Amino acid sequence: MASRCWRWWGRSAWPWTPPLSVGSIPSFRHQFSTQETTPQICVVGSGPAGFYTAQHLLKHPQAHVDIYEKQPVPFGLVRFGVAPDHPEVKTAHCGRCAFWGNVEVGRDVTVPELREAYHAVVLSYGAEDHRALEIPGEELPGVCSARAFVGWYNGLPENQELKPDLSCDTAVILGQGNVALDVARILLTPPEHLEKTDITKAALDVLRQSRVKTVWLVGRRGPLQVAFTIKELREMIQLPGTRPILDPVDFLGLQDRLKEVPRPRKRLTELLLRTAMEKPGPEEAARRASASRAWGLRFFRSPQQVLPSPDGQGAAGVRLAVTRLEGVGEATRAVPTGAMEDLPCGLVLSSIGYKSRPIDPSVPFDSKLGVIPNVEGRVTDVPGLYCSGWVKRGPTGVIATTMTDSFLTGQMLLQDLKAGLLPSGPRPGSAAIQALLSSRGVQPVSFSDWEKLDAEEVARGQGTGRPREKLVDPQEMLHLLGH
Ligand code: FAD
Repeated sequence: MASRCWRWWGRSAWPWTPPLSVGSIPSFRHQFSTQETTPQICVVGSGPAGFYTAQHLLKHPQAHVDIYEKQPVPFGLVRFGVAPDHPEVKTAHCGRCAFWGNVEVGRDVTVPELREAYHAVVLSYGAEDHRALEIPGEELPGVCSARAFVGWYNGLPENQELKPDLSCDTAVILGQGNVALDVARILLTPPEHLEKTDITKAALDVLRQSRVKTVWLVGRRGPLQVAFTIKELREMIQLPGTRPILDPVDFLGLQDRLKEVPRPRKRLTELLLRTAMEKPGPEEAARRASASRAWGLRFFRSPQQVLPSPDGQGAAGVRLAVTRLEGVGEATRAVPTGAMEDLPCGLVLSSIGYKSRPIDPSVPFDSKLGVIPNVEGRVTDVPGLYCSGWVKRGPTGVIATTMTDSFLTGQMLLQDLKAGLLPSGPRPGSAAIQALLSSRGVQPVSFSDWEKLDAEEVARGQGTGRPREKLVDPQEMLHLLGH
């Protein structure tokens, strides 16, 4: 389940600032200052993994790091994933190191070409695919991945055509992780609260017209297995204009099991228990009574089919198998009881996990786990090739986790460099790649180009009280840059 991925979710890693100024670590300076060749290294992907890996590599006093990014804009999921009503997490500024946006590795330039031009290549291209539900009806209009929905409201160019139909009363989110909660919160937040965020204008216009009143988050297992974290849950419980729907039956006997579970899980479950079982105080009771929208957690239900509307042009509901739990601890599994239940809805969002895509036939890929096989960031059996972030360890964890594993990859690469395990002699680096790109008609976007786009977005947001109005069309971005 996707949701397991988010165990370490939290905002402790924020604000996220990926400064590329070289940290002055004296031991590094001393160790490497006698090397004659400039180590030319490139990183593929400019999300947190790409920037944190680059940051570590730049501790080598001579290293030059180029970051190739397929979007014209940097920062990966920090720009396109993190919810727009969490603006504190959006801060990012950058110093030294070359950014080459609008360059898709695997299409505009290949990994072997990069390996030829650089001493080492680090793959940090994230996990862009979502896991499919693999149930009948998944292809119906009105069904989409939570990832695409998030990309749509956050301005990811490839998701701008999504235009979700929010004319229905009820939405069902399959999954009980933080992304599922993010999506539920955006669907139910009063639009005037979103007006001060950098959510796209197009998304805001659609959300203003939304008729969605109820959002169900469905999980195969029970309250002890939810994958969202307490901060996100608290925010949901307090969301203005909404009330929670929790069935006390799902929580029976849970109190007695609390002493067996680790502290963060215990605190999270206590909050769920209080919300489900305790009578709210007068103020909270009044708040809930006046709420016009609701969200609920539906436990012990596994999706079997998306039910079509009578004309077959949309979703009318989800058929769920009722489950019970078998096993203990992490090994707890949901098994069907044989009972079925239909949950009516007009919108279905699947939030059951992500996986990476293979980037090049020459790069090993574990298609079952959706990651590049590696040992501490060294790609298995390919000297000089490394990986970091979600493509290295799978789509688990928050930015802080990504930072730690990216630093580790950077450390391994520098160790190999010091041990003479990388190719010796000079490498052309970006000069060779720029020549290739130019022969293929690709015009990269530099970091100063991005700063111009950034200034344009901020200027467009001014006067409306919004931090920025995101540009969502790559062609418009390139046009603004005179490309
Ligand atoms: P990404 O951030 O996805 O970066 C990968 C980059 O590679 C992207 O810029 C992509 O465009 C680029 N790329 C892909 N393919 C290519 C290619 N072929 N050539 C060149 N470039 C390419 N964590 C938190 O701590 N707090 C949060 O609030 C939070 N919210 C989240 C919300 C959502 C919806 C999601 C999905 C995740 C969220 N996370 C959050 C987790 C966090 O975003 C991840 O831990 C982190 O982004 C992973 O970093 P990454 O660099 O591996 O991947």
